[in-house]
Amino acid sequence: MSVLIVGSTALDSIKTPKGENPRLLGGSASHAAVAASFFAPVKLVGIVGKDFPKRYVDLYRKHKIDLSGLQVVEGKTFHWSGEYEVNMNNRRTLATDLGVFETFSPKLPALYQKSDYVLLANIAPSLQSHVLDQMRRPKFVVADTMDLWLNIALPDLLKLLKRVDGFVLNDSEARQLTKEDNVVAALKKIHKLGPKYVIVKKGEHGAILSSSAGLFLSPAFPLAHVVDPTGAGDSFVGGMMGYLSTAKGSIDSNIRRAMVCGSVAASFCCEGFGLKFTTRITRKAIDERVKHLEKLARF
Ligand code: AMP
Repeated sequence: MSVLIVGSTALDSIKTPKGENPRLLGGSASHAAVAASFFAPVKLVGIVGKDFPKRYVDLYRKHKIDLSGLQVVEGKTFHWSGEYEVNMNNRRTLATDLGVFETFSPKLPALYQKSDYVLLANIAPSLQSHVLDQMRRPKFVVADTMDLWLNIALPDLLKLLKRVDGFVLNDSEARQLTKEDNVVAALKKIHKLGPKYVIVKKGEHGAILSSSAGLFLSPAFPLAHVVDPTGAGDSFVGGMMGYLSTAKGSIDSNIRRAMVCGSVAASFCCEGFGLKFTTRITRKAIDERVKHLEKLARF
């Protein structure tokens, strides 16, 4: 089993109260792919320019990420820069330079088209749909998004939602999409748009799942020191999909533990700039934190 992940492959320049780091390996697909790689083999779909540093390709390779779906073309790699306020919850985007993403048309290698588990990480919903068009019969497809697409590509996103099994978004996006302040009411409204599994992320307060099996509250791993939360949401959904793709049994019987694995992957992501911390951990470290969270949440 493997997970196919499409999304942004980027260079991120990030400023947080803990420091400033230019041109880190980033992008929704990079964070999700590294997190998923602790659980399952990953097939990456993305695009970078010729300026993409070789050491970042080596990092993907270290995580045994299949790069046959990564296009390397003339031009500049997508560059995003952002700055966090002191509380680390509020973030300001300083610049988004699309670079080679402006002309991106994902093309799936034949071997990718048969993947059972597909993560449409944050990227324009029309591109997410274009990837789905090329898939044979995936078992479980999950999409992530961001406020930008709710603002400028809502019709495309609504079309996509009719075709996916799961949808992951954060609480402010859920409010924006449904005009509901109450998260339970928002979850109900989002089901009506298509997805059977809806997950609303609430940052340091965890995530809530709604499905036909009911609601589930996944805790976030409590961290005393956050260095950079960029990519935490992508790591969450990447870890969740990685776990799901190798777990035996139904989605319903595995998705709760999968979310906890995702929460743990997200916690490691927050402990370093970009992917610096996540790329240094091991599966054993993840399993230990999952056990710890189990103890913290049991009652
Ligand atoms: P998160 O912190 O989970 O919201 O994800 C942060 C990642 O999203 C960064 O690594 C950025 O490179 C990436 N990103 C920022 N803006 C966009 C965009 N418009 N499309 C796709 N990815 C983006």
